[in-house]
Amino acid sequence: MECWVCPLPAILHCIHCGPSPPACSPSHLLLHRPTGSCRPFALRQDERVGRYLVATMDIKAGESVLYEEALVVGPSRERKLVCVECLTPCPLPTSCPKCPLPLCSPACGGSWHLLECHKYRASIGSSQEDTLAHLQLLTALRLVARRGEQASKGELGVSLCEVGGEGLSSALDPEVLRKVLREVGMEEQEQEVVAAHNHLFINGKAITEGGSVGTGLFPLYSLLNHSCLPNTLTLLDKGRSLEEG
Ligand SMILES: [Zn+2]
Ligand SMILES: [Zn+2]
Ligand SMILES: [Zn+2]
Ligand SMILES: [Zn+2]
Repeated sequence: MECWVCPLPAILHCIHCGPSPPACSPSHLLLHRPTGSCRPFALRQDERVGRYLVATMDIKAGESVLYEEALVVGPSRERKLVCVECLTPCPLPTSCPKCPLPLCSPACGGSWHLLECHKYRASIGSSQEDTLAHLQLLTALRLVARRGEQASKGELGVSLCEVGGEGLSSALDPEVLRKVLREVGMEEQEQEVVAAHNHLFINGKAITEGGSVGTGLFPLYSLLNHSCLPNTLTLLDKGRSLEEG
């Protein structure tokens, strides 16, 4: 039997659930039960359909199936003027005290904007059009930064979010892409940014609660099948963690 999340043999038992061992290693056993309840599914792969999740235990009505923090959260690619931290629409935003990106108030800094604030200390164009070009790509830039962080720590999310197609999608103007990358000094990472943008295009979850407008990437959630008549409910909390039940 394979580990619940990787192709290695499952040899470590979980004292909380069934007799078949779910994991190959202490770190994957920890991920099987990250919040006090066992994840009732395993990740499998098939040549025809790619990766998918399959239930490995009975799931009762109303039971939580998956709780997951976002790998990345940010403005959507639809060029809406929003606070880059809390994603509230801001028709008349103020700038971050340290860079030209828009915040709903100077006090609304936080961990997401810290991923790129240092890259924006130099000025970018001052028109709204210039700002929107950066917002369109900001979440892809964050995803590249988060993948770098996770890869250095050997974390799981990064391997679940393997790079997708590298061709430029029609939703992205090559001139805009190059201008943005030049202004943040990331010209050499063009392929990585395009792949991240495509990945968000395919697997991003729209964030629309409480008037916010943005997108988030939840690695395990993105592997769930879509159904027009779903048998689960998705909840997003204020910290942008996701629960599927
Ligand atoms: Zn494993
Ligand atoms: Zn268990
Ligand atoms: Zn804000
Ligand atoms: Zn800033």
